[in-house]
Amino acid sequence: MSLPYRPLDRPVQFLKGVGPRRSALLGKLGLVTARDVLYHVPRRYEDASTIRPIRTLEAGMDATVVGRIVSQGVLPTRKGLRIFQVVLRDRSGLIECAWPGQPFLDRVFRPGDLVLATGTVRFFHGRQLQPREYVILARAGESAGAEVGAVFPVYPATEGLPQWQMRKLIRANLEDLLRDLAEEGDPIPAEVLDRHGLPPIEVALRFLHRPESLVEAEQGRRRLAFDELFYLQLLHARTHHEQSVERRGIAFERRDTLMRPFYRNLPFQLTRAQKRVLREIGEDMASDRRMHRLLQGDVGAGKTVVALMAMLRAVENGYQAALMAPTEILAEQHVRTLRSLLGELPVRVQLLTGRMGAAARRQALRAIASGEAQIVVGTHALIQEGVRFHRLGLAVVDEQHRFGVRQRLTLAEMGGGDGDPEPDVLLMSATPIPRSLALTLYGDLDLSVLDERPPGRRPVRTALRPPSARTAVLEFVREQVRAGRQAYLVFPLVEESEAMQLKAATDEFEHLSREVFPELRLGLLHGQMPGEEKDRVMREFAAGKIDVLVATSVVEVGIDVPNATVMVIEHAERFGLSQLHQLRGRVGRGGEQSYCVLLQAHPGAIERLRLFASTEDGFRIAEEDLRLRGQGDLFGERQSGIPAFRFADLSRDASLLIAARSEARRLVEDDPSLTDHPRLAHELEQRYGEQARLYQTG
Ligand code: ADP
Ligand code: MG
Repeated sequence: MSLPYRPLDRPVQFLKGVGPRRSALLGKLGLVTARDVLYHVPRRYEDASTIRPIRTLEAGMDATVVGRIVSQGVLPTRKGLRIFQVVLRDRSGLIECAWPGQPFLDRVFRPGDLVLATGTVRFFHGRQLQPREYVILARAGESAGAEVGAVFPVYPATEGLPQWQMRKLIRANLEDLLRDLAEEGDPIPAEVLDRHGLPPIEVALRFLHRPESLVEAEQGRRRLAFDELFYLQLLHARTHHEQSVERRGIAFERRDTLMRPFYRNLPFQLTRAQKRVLREIGEDMASDRRMHRLLQGDVGAGKTVVALMAMLRAVENGYQAALMAPTEILAEQHVRTLRSLLGELPVRVQLLTGRMGAAARRQALRAIASGEAQIVVGTHALIQEGVRFHRLGLAVVDEQHRFGVRQRLTLAEMGGGDGDPEPDVLLMSATPIPRSLALTLYGDLDLSVLDERPPGRRPVRTALRPPSARTAVLEFVREQVRAGRQAYLVFPLVEESEAMQLKAATDEFEHLSREVFPELRLGLLHGQMPGEEKDRVMREFAAGKIDVLVATSVVEVGIDVPNATVMVIEHAERFGLSQLHQLRGRVGRGGEQSYCVLLQAHPGAIERLRLFASTEDGFRIAEEDLRLRGQGDLFGERQSGIPAFRFADLSRDASLLIAARSEARRLVEDDPSLTDHPRLAHELEQRYGEQARLYQTG
């Protein structure tokens, strides 16, 4: 999709006040085209709400002032330190600003410069400000725009291209650039903007560069944040359209031959959340669109029952269902759970893992190919060479984030013969993440959330302890083991190199085995162990042959050992809240009271850890984690290839994101290939390149 040449795509050196030297400096900031400069918006603002009249400053305050330099000079002190000093004046009065040890500033500032300075006010022969930060807003004799009651934009600048030059450059070109932008036209349809109270793009950029108030600046930011969210959601919406609408799915009927007796024999009432989610899944399955749904729910929220009921719907329609889990232990666990939930119901559940012997495997493959095996549970052995389903109608993937996209798709594509509709897909995740993050990462899927725990579970008691309590905590572990329980002892790895990590882990393990718990059976689990050995240790722990499992970082997700009642986490402050939540989820799975003890060596994290101790609501913890750590961190951990947003903030812009998503879906529904929206298609390609282009051919 190519549009005619647009003036904003011209190189920066065609801008007013930009020669070869400037254009090289702009290049250092990543600003290559006129458009880049237009989008180079302030990183923050100062205005009357943050800027104080100089007269009102008092010692002890932390304040920002704006004033003209009345005089400046370098003073020696008794200790030989040289101090650069200026006197600033605004309409209300004068103040001295001092930069100890920075005499070179005498060459940076000039009398008459308009300066913004932020720092602490001290009392030193009168009031004195020691700026932490300063910005030259305008040179002597120049105006910075309206100086009184104005909002001052603070731009990202660079060596050789200071703040005041950047401001001047943008001010000189802004009107031209905005006109060019307005002539291009807004790629986002006006009715979409109107529905959400968003300004046209050229207005948004004016607001960002020259706001009359912070409210305007925020309106501008919101528009650019919407753009970021919207284009990503467009990409998602097109994937969704391709996978769910363009491909024919199976319209499962309500037969109830299995569902009804299953429901009648269920030993508990479904939670409201389970019923809601089952309705969502039921609607997808009944439609001839293909289901592509993500089911999120905390550990213990009751996902397995939900998945089983979806699978029964497939089975009573004469189809097979498959459930893929990331580890053999989990797959085996699922088979046991499903069989016990099914009770007497005549449904054949078949296991398939890589560990099976040749004869058992052959038999399993035969049952899968003939359709005798109605529910097939396995590891990625399910998607390997030689596996043929008779008639796969539903593919369920547990702990979906542990599989690659390709693996998930492969299972989804193992339907019957040619021309048969493709199976519905249900992905599950036990890692609660905030809705805004889920919609960003998995926006191509529909989302169901189990946000309610089945009743009657005893809360895990969580305690925060200082390092001095370590001996007492370990003593408590010993007591619990004497009472017949098991414990996890987790510590984070801090060493840089893998070899050092390994040594730290083994040293700690040796120490605990010899000095602390000589009479107990200890097991060690760490990241560098081969998968098989990890599996062996986990099995021994699950079988009760290990009393205390010493583990580094993350204990394998999903392992269910109801007899384990203690989780001790050392250096808890080094873990993210969501990680702590995963760890705590390992205990509290049986009938006994369980405990989670956070040993924290660093008082800095106390607020965070207290919040964690006060709730077991994984979604709340995840929201808090997002707020505290920021999306960059969470993205980095979970998935690369997600764009880092410049303007959008997922912890603040959740409703904007939901708006962006529904607009994107609506648009793609009406115009899947964006033929009626060439500017949108172009912009999408600008932003996402290859990823966006794939769609136009595919
Ligand atoms: P998840 O897979 O989400 O971690 P499970 O499906 O394994 O959770 O459920 C955890 C436990 O709670 C299981 O023993 C399950 O039988 C039980 N359970 C599920 N739903 C309910 C419910 N509505 N009421 C009571 N117990 C339930
Ligand atoms: Mg369907």
